Amino acid sequence: MAQHKLCVKHGVMNQKPQLHIFSLGGTISMAPTLDAGSGVRPTFGAHDIVAAAPELAEIADISAESLSLKGSANLLFSEIAELCRRAASLSCSGIMVTQGTDTMEECAFLASLLYGGPPPMVFTGAMRSPAQPGADGRANLMAAALTALTSNGPAVSLVMNDEIHHPFYVTKSHTSNVAAFQSPIRGPVGQITEGNVILHPVQPAPTFDIPDEFAPVALLPAVLNDDGNLFDTILSAGYAGLVVEGFGAGHVSEQIAEKLAAIAAKIPVILASRVRAGSVFERTYGYRGAEIDLLNKGLVPAGRLSGRKARILLSLILGLEKPDWRQEFTRVVKHV
Ligand code: ASP
Repeated sequence: MAQHKLCVKHGVMNQKPQLHIFSLGGTISMAPTLDAGSGVRPTFGAHDIVAAAPELAEIADISAESLSLKGSANLLFSEIAELCRRAASLSCSGIMVTQGTDTMEECAFLASLLYGGPPPMVFTGAMRSPAQPGADGRANLMAAALTALTSNGPAVSLVMNDEIHHPFYVTKSHTSNVAAFQSPIRGPVGQITEGNVILHPVQPAPTFDIPDEFAPVALLPAVLNDDGNLFDTILSAGYAGLVVEGFGAGHVSEQIAEKLAAIAAKIPVILASRVRAGSVFERTYGYRGAEIDLLNKGLVPAGRLSGRKARILLSLILGLEKPDWRQEFTRVVKHV
């Protein structure tokens, strides 16, 4: 484990590192509207966010840029692609991205496929908006800034609640707790304590070119007593790929297994699990609709990748029109 401490005492460091902040919106940017009872909405841009955390200027020279101001449910793959393009053109010591927590795990995962650094890129946000008691945004900004200025972590990481998470594993696990982000398979890859960034070593993740377009990929879960009618719409709706989140280690009903076989004859179909942690199996269960049957029908296992991350990966690979999409998909799955 490596420890890195920045000299944070104002005036001691002659040349401060350069930290660039992109803001996309989210709770960290939200304020109450004038009409009482209407809730908080995206309001503050990157400069406001930086101004509200003056301690950032003690550790770095800050440049800030608002790329969008939205609830994160509205973010698009193309916006994350543009962010990665911009990041690759910067010359600075660290990059921070502030956005909503609802889709942060997906955005950070996509960024990790498109951006290999250096400098490090760190996603952060807040579970509580700035005006709420115990607002966590400011502490998250400082922890993320320290991580972004540390060179030996993952090229892209997610920092919340003083923990550093790898985008392949992290997931939002609570709707309101400030400790909402967890990496159930492997735990955080580091933490921030008293201004120290403590990191476990990580392998560099595979990266891809930025595609002109992402392919439309559907994500459907297995649910009990399902007639499977939604599966019948996949091909006619024009999807280029499908990810199915099976029960347990990758299982569906016999009826849906037949539907998946028909779909997999036409477009790529990935088998993930609706369970929060663990791998999709490949050679244990032999009944109809279990993983051996589904893989024989042409489905490709997602390994330990969640369905929503598998969907992003497939959408990227199909967008790049990679002739051997299976090999490309499996290359990333093996890394997880
Ligand atoms: N609740 C969200 C957040 O934590 C809202 C969003 O994702 O934009 O930021």
